[in-house]
Amino acid sequence: MNYFLTEEQQAIVDISREIAQKKIKPVREHYDVTEEYPWPIVEELRKADLFGVYFHPNYGGLGGGGMELCLVMEEISKACGGIALSIACTALCAFPIILFGTPEQKKRYLPDLASGKKLGAFTITEPEAGSDATATRCTAKKDGNFYILNGTKNFCSNGNAAEIYTLFASTNPKRGARGISAFIVEKGTAGFSMGKKEVKMGIRASPTYELNFDNCKISKDNLLGGEGHGLSVAQGTFDISRPGVAAQALGIAQGALDETLAYAKMRKQFGQSVLSFQSSQHMAADMATQIEAARALLYTVTKAMDHELLQAVETSEKSGKAVYDELKQIASRRWTKYSAMVKLYCSDVAMKVTTDAVQLCGGIGYMRDFPVEKFMRDAKITQIYEGTNQIQRNEIGYALIKELSQK
Ligand SMILES: Cc1cc2nc3c(=O)[nH]c(=O)nc-3n(C[C@H](O)[C@H](O)[C@H](O)COP(=O)(O)OP(=O)(O)OC[C@H]3O[C@@H](n4cnc5c(N)ncnc54)[C@H](O)[C@@H]3O)c2cc1C
Repeated sequence: MNYFLTEEQQAIVDISREIAQKKIKPVREHYDVTEEYPWPIVEELRKADLFGVYFHPNYGGLGGGGMELCLVMEEISKACGGIALSIACTALCAFPIILFGTPEQKKRYLPDLASGKKLGAFTITEPEAGSDATATRCTAKKDGNFYILNGTKNFCSNGNAAEIYTLFASTNPKRGARGISAFIVEKGTAGFSMGKKEVKMGIRASPTYELNFDNCKISKDNLLGGEGHGLSVAQGTFDISRPGVAAQALGIAQGALDETLAYAKMRKQFGQSVLSFQSSQHMAADMATQIEAARALLYTVTKAMDHELLQAVETSEKSGKAVYDELKQIASRRWTKYSAMVKLYCSDVAMKVTTDAVQLCGGIGYMRDFPVEKFMRDAKITQIYEGTNQIQRNEIGYALIKELSQK
């Protein structure tokens, strides 16, 4: 299907595909087994400028938007959904700074994230606050020109690899959801340490850590988006970041289908190729159709979002106002419903397609030294993080009811 990508977008696809197929595919099993961080691959991604595709040129980026990030995520995830997270987590750290950062915060943090010199992470989840972020217990107490952070964050992707973190903590526990604020925290700040490293089912090349804050003192200049606005910062971020998870899911699904077709064509039973059975072709047809529908939805929504986002980014560079404020002036709607739809649909397709891929390959599909079962393990997380798919359905349902009441 021709999606009429621009020349620049096609170049991004080509270079991402080359790195994915030539550099990542041969080593993905190693990183899956060892759970080592794939630093040599990160270096390749840095050299190819793939960390910077969605940053404004003023920060050393290529000037693209969510679409460019999705193209990178899709191609890398065709080879390894875990390694792709080095870029996705950096984006999840950068988006709140891009959307809500002051000119000083953007100048200070975005260039290193855009070049990939420093990786990023985003940490909102806590042991007691998963789907319900309003239960945040980590505190940030104002102390003159500083905030003092105390508490525990968990399940932080890019955990120990990152150097810049966007973090959510309560500046006023009495105010509940309205007391939560967002901050930028740097690795190496006294009182900030790594806790437990999780051992996971999938995306094992991506380290998931607990983070501990014990009287960790950060400058008041690291407050992002104003006191008490943390949940708006998180929601605004998820609106533009969830398509990245969808792209990861899409790449995983496509990678699984590609491996499966190649195997099923070659594998012979009853004197003929397994792919020559009509039941196999029907399964493959359903897989391919679901993938193409997922891609069409993802690209359509992302292009529409970029239309407004890139305008707001450009205006913000001139006005000095936050991108999010500029966006509120021009955006025709909140994107929550559509970003939830793409994340929901693409990740459900990825789970279905990768499960069918294992089935179509038979016993070998279940084996660790054959690549297909890894796609199934990697696909599962896309239905869970950045809001489980139940939460995405809640968001869509809420939006539908709100629209109904406005008719
Ligand atoms: C590998 C991995 C990486 C992660 N990376 C990050 C990261 O980088 N940064 C970060 O901040 N977080 C991260 N997370 C956390 C992730 O976003 C949460 O796990 C997720 O939001 C779900 O929260 P929970 O695990 O506490 O599940 P819970 O909230 O305890 O949910 C348990 C079940 O209840 C359902 N449920 C809960 N509330 C509702 C409701 N209102 N309606 C319907 N069903 C509901 C859920 O859908 C789920 O099925 C990561 C998680 C994993 C597993």
